[in-house]
Amino acid sequence: MFDIPTVTLPSGITVPALGLGTWNMGEDSRKARIEVDSLKRGLDLGMTLVDTAEMYAEGGAERITGEAISGRRDQVFLVSKVYPWNAGHKGVIEACERSLSRLGTDRLDLYLLHWRGEHPLAETVAGFEELRRAGKIRAWGVSNFDTDDMEELMNVADGRNCAANQVLYNLSRRGAEYDLLPWCQERGIVIMAYSPIEQGRLLRNGELIRIAKAYQATPAQVALTFLLERDGVIAIPKSANPDRVAENAGAAELELSEADWQALDAAFPPPDRKRPLEML
Ligand code: NDP
Repeated sequence: MFDIPTVTLPSGITVPALGLGTWNMGEDSRKARIEVDSLKRGLDLGMTLVDTAEMYAEGGAERITGEAISGRRDQVFLVSKVYPWNAGHKGVIEACERSLSRLGTDRLDLYLLHWRGEHPLAETVAGFEELRRAGKIRAWGVSNFDTDDMEELMNVADGRNCAANQVLYNLSRRGAEYDLLPWCQERGIVIMAYSPIEQGRLLRNGELIRIAKAYQATPAQVALTFLLERDGVIAIPKSANPDRVAENAGAAELELSEADWQALDAAFPPPDRKRPLEML
């Protein structure tokens, strides 16, 4: 068990700042066992936030997640996402019921709109709020929303109840730091950083490798530590390998020197102007 830093949601609930992604899980039944074991390993180590979506393997990742959390639902902060085309008032309620059934639970802790689609935000929010009143979800949020989308959301009835915005954010994608991250931090809206190790591509970076070596750490741990240092940010690395999950959890124990923070800024400069939010 690692001493994983925490983030507080607007409701006052505290969650680990390091969770478990599930994209690509549930695609191949031969990998189901190792995927379930990887998630269980993460839960054992204190990464008790699991991020999934109806999109991932068309429900397959939710089934894997359901298996991994079976018997320990109360220890887990469970996040899933609705497809934009299911996010009308009635559609979001039906999609949530399907997700709950695949996950083998009666509630989600956080339900996100996966990205903006054609349904008016007011309709999606009305559906989310109805789910919340019915106890099917504890909180709701959005994903892939840039600052202007968030401003728009704030002007919709109950839009200010948004708890989180899940976006692409890692060392090589720092655009959100210019405006979106401070905007969310000021309002207590949590940022969930997806693809925190850039789907593995960051791990080949020479400067990251150099810094990691100096601490007998790994490039993935340095990349995750970068996110753990930020207020109100949750990183959700995905791994279907229990050893790599344990490695990722170990990021919680890494402390970099001031000189190495500066070296990271030099290798991955923070934004000096607005950049549109990127998506994967
Ligand atoms: P990540 O940055 O988490 O990278 C995942 C990849 O890195 C996998 O190939 C994994 O392989 C590998 N990996 C993980 N840990 C290590 C390690 N320590 N050393 C070496 N390789 C490692 O990318 P994701 O895109 O999966 O993002 C994380 C999660 O964010 C997703 O799973 C999903 O839950 C969410 N997400 C949300 C999006 C949205 O639109 N809201 C979009 C994209 C992601 P292996 O499994 O073999 O270890």
